[in-house]
Amino acid sequence: MKRLIFMGPPGAGKGTQADIVKDKFHIPQISTGEILREAVKNSTAMGLEAKKFMDAGDLVPDVVVIGIIRDRLAEADCAKGFILDGFPRTVEQAGALDKILKEMHMELDAVVNLAVPDAELVGRLLKRAEKEGRADDNEETIKNRLSNYNSKTYPLIDYYKKEGILKEVNGVGSMDDITKEIMGILG
Ligand code: AMP
Repeated sequence: MKRLIFMGPPGAGKGTQADIVKDKFHIPQISTGEILREAVKNSTAMGLEAKKFMDAGDLVPDVVVIGIIRDRLAEADCAKGFILDGFPRTVEQAGALDKILKEMHMELDAVVNLAVPDAELVGRLLKRAEKEGRADDNEETIKNRLSNYNSKTYPLIDYYKKEGILKEVNGVGSMDDITKEIMGILG
């Protein structure tokens, strides 16, 4: 059983790696960022609410993303495992996740943290902006996302270290090598 979280700052490559690893384990990748972008595209009530936070590079309120995850984990395809990509991002979200999983009689197996220095991240994100045209990949927003990561998400490393399930991976290097390292750790 693989119940995994992929963590790391914006631009660390967690989405890319989660996308590869999910196919190897035949489990769904659950990206709150993707679900929110889809909601924005479809102009749902949730999308309209989330858009202003996303455009500014701020975190969408905990209650919104916790609701997304609660609903998604209840779907049948998650019974055989999952990769959470971009959730949790605050200690509050991590606590809510623990509660949701407990209610479902599930436990996390590992939290993979992809570490990449800040200086490298800005360059990567600006490159992604050119390629994918994501509305929140501009210099101003990138700075805010990194600062939010450092103040709100970084503390989760300690949170999962204490739970004894944190796996640290160097996120600088070739995509293949990083995948190999992750697969080696996850077994
Ligand atoms: P991502 O694709 O993971 O970089 O997410 C894009 C944006 O969606 C973030 O900058 C946030 O505005 C929002 N978002 C995604 N996941 C979360 C989360 N777990 N908590 C709060 N906001 C989130």
